Amino acid sequence: MRNVLVVNDNQNVLSSLKQEFKKQDDIKPYFAKSHKEANDLLNKHHDKFHAALLDIYLNDAKNGEIIELINHHNIPYVILTDMIDGKIQDTLLKKNIINIFSTNDQTNIACAVTDISRTLKNYDTTILIVDDSDIYRKILKDSLKKIKLKIIEACDGVEALEILENNNKISLVLTDYEMPNMDGIELTFKLRKKYKKDQLGIIALSVVEEQNVISKFLRIGANDFINKRFTHNELVTRINANLELLDLFAQIKEMANKDFLTGAYNRRFFFDNGNSIYSKNKRKNTPLTVAMIDIDKFKNINDTYGHDTGDVAIKEAKRILVDNLRDSDLMARFGGEEFCVLLEDITYENTRLLFEKIRNKFQNNIIRTHKHVITYTVSIGIYIGLSDSLEDMIRLSDEALYEAKENGRNRIIISQ
Ligand code: GH3
Ligand code: MG
Ligand code: MG
Ligand code: MG
Repeated sequence: MRNVLVVNDNQNVLSSLKQEFKKQDDIKPYFAKSHKEANDLLNKHHDKFHAALLDIYLNDAKNGEIIELINHHNIPYVILTDMIDGKIQDTLLKKNIINIFSTNDQTNIACAVTDISRTLKNYDTTILIVDDSDIYRKILKDSLKKIKLKIIEACDGVEALEILENNNKISLVLTDYEMPNMDGIELTFKLRKKYKKDQLGIIALSVVEEQNVISKFLRIGANDFINKRFTHNELVTRINANLELLDLFAQIKEMANKDFLTGAYNRRFFFDNGNSIYSKNKRKNTPLTVAMIDIDKFKNINDTYGHDTGDVAIKEAKRILVDNLRDSDLMARFGGEEFCVLLEDITYENTRLLFEKIRNKFQNNIIRTHKHVITYTVSIGIYIGLSDSLEDMIRLSDEALYEAKENGRNRIIISQ
């Protein structure tokens, strides 16, 4: 959760802002109606605010003193005010400002909140600036620092490729067109062979206005194009809009790979990733472990307590598995009350210990819903080795699971 300080003395604007902030689940806004209230909040919650949304003319501080105050606390801010004149435009050059909007246009209230929300996400977003001109790199850096992006620099395409090779945190590449060694077109072409548009954003920048350069960039896969004679406002708006799209792609991908009820990965994700893990280990001839975990007599839970309580029990199973597995283990919900795990680099003995521990956790776990107290056990079938395919390993772990059920449930069976 990120905290935002909102300072505004106009009641109407304030209530519109309250509505806008309600749509942002991961932002907690703090409202102040005067310079004094803002100052009190800042003193009370020292170092707490990640961004601020400011009106500059306040009843108790009519000359923009609030900006000095916020700058003093080193907080990035968006200005939302009813009067924008040349003097305010000059403040754009001061440090930390994200953007400036006039309240004369009602749609600007939503835009200001969107800019704040994006800036908060930018704290964890990395962008690569590729330009041979030190001056342009500095201009871009200064602007993008204000929207809190993490910035890495390269002076040509060759250096950019090298950096991307070793850094998988970069979301967006902002590349110049004309550069020595490797220009922006060649860089974009090379990057698009490796990363799709939803994996890495590319924005081309150039003073060249020739239509064929722009269309060439877009044809070979750039997400957008910005003329180098941009204003700060235009640059920030374009970059933020492109980052927002990349986030949306990631969200859609996440939804397609995850099970709605538990948030665990689904079968499809399991096979997409599991098959490449299988191939890698097959080449090295190192054994893998596949474990199938199934809730015992789950039908009874549904029949006795109802489907909703059954759902709670399934979610709880996911939690216990996540808590006890390593991040590198691949776990998915396979069917109704059945989960599958693929583990690398684990010995027979450690496999046995781990799944005995997990079986025990289930046995000792007491789930309290507002109506019922329920307990249940799980049976676990495990196959260790490298049979003909991942599918075949799953079939073998399923057979072990069947055996565990046959032998009385609440137990693990390992086959090799
Ligand atoms: P066993 O010990 O042999 O595994 O018995 P079981 O009752 O657990 O096994 P069975 O496979 O016969 O029943 C699984 C049940 O899970 C059947 C289905 O109605 C229920 N189920 C499947 N998906 C969901 C779900 O998303 N939510 C709930 N509440 N129940 C589900
Ligand atoms: Mg250049
Ligand atoms: Mg079952
Ligand atoms: Mg089942």
